[in-house]
Amino acid sequence: MTETEIPEDHPRYASLVTRHRIEAGVEMGITSKQGLIAQGRGEAFDYLLGERTLPSADAAERAAAATLLAADRPVLSVNGNVAALAPGETVALAEAVDADIEVNLFNHTDERVRRIAAHLRDHGADDVKGLAADGEIPGLDHARGTVDADGIEAADVVVVPLEDGDRAEALDAMGKTEIVIDLNPGSRSPRTADIPIIDNLVRAVPNVTAHARDLADASAAELQAVADGFDPDATLAAAEAAIREGSFATPDDEN
Ligand code: ATP
Repeated sequence: MTETEIPEDHPRYASLVTRHRIEAGVEMGITSKQGLIAQGRGEAFDYLLGERTLPSADAAERAAAATLLAADRPVLSVNGNVAALAPGETVALAEAVDADIEVNLFNHTDERVRRIAAHLRDHGADDVKGLAADGEIPGLDHARGTVDADGIEAADVVVVPLEDGDRAEALDAMGKTEIVIDLNPGSRSPRTADIPIIDNLVRAVPNVTAHARDLADASAAELQAVADGFDPDATLAAAEAAIREGSFATPDDEN
């Protein structure tokens, strides 16, 4: 079944489209086979969260937008799942907050970086970093720690969606302000993040962009107030509570 053949009135339409995009990503050589497993984990958590953006996640997305707008050198990190699921949305966010895009893979190969960069350019990106691979994240082996010296290595704020826990911890140790998008509130990556966004990437990225547009004229003090008002522990606790309370049974509720 192709994406256009999925009936729009199917109760699990969004989930099926997402699954199809990951499959297509694997076929195009931009998503790894391990990316399929990550997708499966993500789907399970999204189901438990009610396949919706919790109010606590929306607050995290607004804090992320404010933090990105206030940053000196923000970078959006893109892996094979992000490129397959939300290429155009990632480019739109980079434009809205004036961030660089860097392809950064758990298992770096030049070939896959090139393919992902080309895919992002097809979706409107001008400049995509990740191929210079002349920098490193200290504390990781070469394949997992390679970054661009003028990209993630030099960034003050990084958005790392669906990131592996070791790398999230190593970026934190470098002093980066980390914004992690991950559906599992118990995963190490969101627990390490300054701003954990417990939401599906496909909903989170456009919503951060919408908040960034809304905050485009805010002063530095106003941006700081939005970022300071955010509590990462509270957002993790709210997502855990939503899962425990079975919010998936009442997807229209705003709790
Ligand atoms: P850690 O090492 O931090 O514990 P992990 O082993 O859970 O991480 P992976 O196996 O790489 O990490 O799993 C990828 C993560 O990405 C999972 O937590 C999964 O919930 C999340 N994920 C998958 N798809 C999406 C998506 N579309 N949006 C947001 N998060 C997603």
